[in-house]
Amino acid sequence: MTTVFSSSQIVERYLSYFRGHGHYELPSTPLAVPGNSTSFIIAGMQPLLPYLRAETLPPSPRLSSVQRCLRTDDVEAVGSNDRKMSAFLMLGNWSIGEYWKREAIEMALEVLLQHLEVERERLWVTVYAGDEPLGLPGDDEAISEWLRVGMPSERIVSLGSEDNLWTMGEGPGPCGPSSEIFVDRGMELGCGRATCRPGCDCERFMEVWNLVFMQYERHADGSLTTLPQRNIDTGMGLERIATILQGAESVFSTDVFLPALERLRELVPEQEGEVRRTRRMIVDHMRAVLLAGLVDVRPGRDGRSSVVRRLIRRAACQGRVLGLEQPFLGELLSPLAEGHGSLLMPQEHSQVQGLVQVVTNEERMFSRVLTQGLSLLEHVEANERGYVDGRVLFQLHAERGFPADLAAEILVERGLSIDWQRYEQARQQHSQVSRVSVKTHFQSS
Ligand SMILES: [Zn+2]
Repeated sequence: MTTVFSSSQIVERYLSYFRGHGHYELPSTPLAVPGNSTSFIIAGMQPLLPYLRAETLPPSPRLSSVQRCLRTDDVEAVGSNDRKMSAFLMLGNWSIGEYWKREAIEMALEVLLQHLEVERERLWVTVYAGDEPLGLPGDDEAISEWLRVGMPSERIVSLGSEDNLWTMGEGPGPCGPSSEIFVDRGMELGCGRATCRPGCDCERFMEVWNLVFMQYERHADGSLTTLPQRNIDTGMGLERIATILQGAESVFSTDVFLPALERLRELVPEQEGEVRRTRRMIVDHMRAVLLAGLVDVRPGRDGRSSVVRRLIRRAACQGRVLGLEQPFLGELLSPLAEGHGSLLMPQEHSQVQGLVQVVTNEERMFSRVLTQGLSLLEHVEANERGYVDGRVLFQLHAERGFPADLAAEILVERGLSIDWQRYEQARQQHSQVSRVSVKTHFQSS
């Protein structure tokens, strides 16, 4: 019988292992990036960039942390598979110019097998296959290290730059090959194709831990040079490893979400034929709103506040899909906080009641717009090619305050496409008109 670890226990075990191995535990950086009004922390390693780029000396060459992250650039995909979320917690350990592939691999394996009790037979890894045009060789060193710790060669999969070359987006910065650790969740979740392995887009293999071997600096012209200092940068998604260790159906049914899902079921029992994404999106978005609220980001018009507003509106819209006509989102915050347990600090738990009011007010304000928008969208018709005139979406936004992205998503779910060119035309016309009217107004006054 295997132990079922709670998310808090996973964090404790992870941090205590790395503490025992000389890692200095960095405090989590606030989700709202200090000194920047628009963004949230989007990756566990983001606060460590000055160390990784050797711009600042770290408190220790060995570091660990648990970082709250929030990214909404591809929020439409949340809930579409078992793992895509907007807010998540990343466990990380780093070596700033100290240990290298051998120790990073040894330690990751030891944590998984001995401290989190994952069965060895379920583990697979990917390594970098190299890239000829880029002049990068395959990562033979990682392969031999994995073989050395007993990973069977048939469970070491080589993948190309798209999967296993870690970079900081498009621009210049440190980069390097990565080795990802996957857990086999069972044939029954697989696509059944003969080629199904880690890297397949089905649900069978879940990537739980990414080990990045930062050894190059990429320059503006795309060329690569070797870094003077080699770093290890790892990230393990807490919700993903919890999915594995709790035998959960997806990240959305791990312990942090269970009380909120239960509350939602009380509000509206599950119905036959329900789209699985709906409840996933609601709890995901409200969790993000909770974490943002705890660093005082409230729904509003600009920057980070607009992200929170958008999440609340999207979740409210999904509530209508379930048939919930009255504001309900606020009721999920306390169960979410309860699900997080000691992952939230005591003072954060005491902030939750205040947020309930904020969310409920926001949802109430949007409620009328939502009702009107949804009823108008029901009557929207597409042309013979299945395209909806983008001007309709623009009008809905300009005249009724109904967000165009939300409208588009609803239409896309109905199998329609949007003619965004028309949308853009309408937007430009509108801004021209407003400019002219501002001008006339000032000239005549
Ligand atoms: Zn597959």
